[in-house]
Amino acid sequence: MATSLREPVSAFVALGANLGHPAQAVSKALTDLAQLPHTQVKAVSELYESAPHQADGPMYVNAVVALSTSLNAFELLQALQAMEQQAGRQRSVQNAPRTLDLDLLFFGHAQLSSAYLTVPHPRWQERAFVLLPLQDVAPERVDAHMLARVADQPIQRSVSVICDSK
Ligand code: ADP
Ligand code: MG
Repeated sequence: MATSLREPVSAFVALGANLGHPAQAVSKALTDLAQLPHTQVKAVSELYESAPHQADGPMYVNAVVALSTSLNAFELLQALQAMEQQAGRQRSVQNAPRTLDLDLLFFGHAQLSSAYLTVPHPRWQERAFVLLPLQDVAPERVDAHMLARVADQPIQRSVSVICDSK
């Protein structure tokens, strides 16, 4: 991966998995994120369990991580996609079940809009499984109105999956 000599940027990544061993996949992704070059993990949310959004399938395990990184946004997304591939991610239909989904929510103040990379992530405010863990690591980014709009989406802070993550 090309190295980048620039000031570190604060980035937020949403993690989700609902196939295979979701808690293990999320836990491994957290470990791998901490090992990315030029990148530090600043905060990790609680783990959550959520019902699939506009889709069928098993419950998801979700989390959000705050990073400080000197990678650029494209390098970071490329690294996230490599981790998804390594976890056996298959892309089929939209919202299909997945072994690992890593979405870049914010990259500093960057505003980018292309099919390959849009930040802020276009749907971050629509999803309880983003807003609740994001609130753990960046409470200033989440307000009561946002939470009210997703209040019908089934989600709970997870205790059980932690035991499953060995
Ligand atoms: P989703 O997460 O929306 O269910 P995918 O994980 O299959 O869908 O991603 C579909 C495409 O979205 C990827 O090819 C990726 O390049 C693109 N994409 C655009 N913006 C982002 C972003 N902020 N984070 C992650 N992927 C993104
Ligand atoms: Mg994704």
